[in-house]
Amino acid sequence: MESILLLAHTEADGSLARPALEALAAAKDLGGTLHIGLVGAQVQKGADLVAGAGAARILGVSGEPFGQPRYATDAAAAEALCRASGAAVVVAPGTSRWSRALAGVAFRLGGRVDTHATALAMENGAPAVTRWFYRQRMEAVLTRSQRPWIVLLDAGCVPAWSGAAGTAIVETVEVAAVETRTTVTGTRSPEAGEQTIRPDAKLLFVAGAGWTKKQSDGATHTADAETLILSFLRASQASLGGSKSLVDLSGEGEAVLRFMTHLNQIGQTGATPRHPKGLSTCCHGEEPHAVGWRFIGERRAVNLDANCGWARGKADVLYVADAFEVMREVNALLGK
Ligand SMILES: Cc1cc2nc3c(=O)[nH]c(=O)nc-3n(C[C@H](O)[C@H](O)[C@H](O)COP(=O)(O)OP(=O)(O)OC[C@H]3O[C@@H](n4cnc5c(N)ncnc54)[C@H](O)[C@@H]3O)c2cc1C
Repeated sequence: MESILLLAHTEADGSLARPALEALAAAKDLGGTLHIGLVGAQVQKGADLVAGAGAARILGVSGEPFGQPRYATDAAAAEALCRASGAAVVVAPGTSRWSRALAGVAFRLGGRVDTHATALAMENGAPAVTRWFYRQRMEAVLTRSQRPWIVLLDAGCVPAWSGAAGTAIVETVEVAAVETRTTVTGTRSPEAGEQTIRPDAKLLFVAGAGWTKKQSDGATHTADAETLILSFLRASQASLGGSKSLVDLSGEGEAVLRFMTHLNQIGQTGATPRHPKGLSTCCHGEEPHAVGWRFIGERRAVNLDANCGWARGKADVLYVADAFEVMREVNALLGK
């Protein structure tokens, strides 16, 4: 088996986040000689966390310039670690930081890169990568002859490695000073009033445009909808998703759910989150939306229309009911 490099960046406190430990588990499962390469302002804490992972070497690029996500420094550090390890296969967590830098690193090394991998396995003595194409409509397993092969593993696909921490010996890899034009001064995110996207939640709760439509009494009840949805989210700690119709309305500044932004959108042009369960409410379940539910384990929907898209094999259970009534009852039960 070829040698493998687990390439991870540390967090602000020097530790490793869960996606890095998931990528480590996937890298270990391939069975080759394992190297670990860490990049960050400090790497010792992260190295200590994975001291028991059985790596032949733990390499590190550290220092203040490597604490910030920035293409020039990240690419230089990753390139140096790949070269120092000599690994044929590089497994990295598919974080936004690595997604930005590692394609360029593959080019510099004369290798190849594949992103959004959902699994890695050995097939006929060679590593094979599973990923989805066309917005999760087709699944493919691919191998490559080119090396090094950098593979970015999507978060939430593999159980994270959990082993004993220890005291690691980190081999420092020097990186020549890199010219940078970018200074990170802070981060700005869209105003969303309240944090509603929770990737680790057991449940995805989706709100569709129906919440803002005229109801049986001929009137809209948007304020009620807001209260019902927010009460449910606070009590259940579910993550909030939205249909495109609903988030587009919010984007237009209409009097709709104020905590809903485009970041909540699920579907073909939105996100494909991974949660064990999902509950869709007031959403029609059309294909461009439901394709974003590909990785949701168990799907349930509440819709007044017994003929909605969910009824056509897209949900495990469809409750033909008024979502206002259902969620009022659910909230009352959660409050007990
Ligand atoms: C290229 C392309 C990409 C797209 N990408 C996406 C995407 O990423 N994500 C996405 O979501 N959509 C996407 N769409 C749009 C998608 O096709 C649908 O238009 C959209 O998902 C509809 O949103 P909705 O179901 O919330 O609204 P509607 O279609 O308006 O459905 C509202 C539903 O609410 C129900 N309802 C109303 N009141 C109640 C009540 N009291 N109780 C229960 N049910 C009630 C109604 O019966 C109805 O089924 C895309 C479309 C295209 C063409």
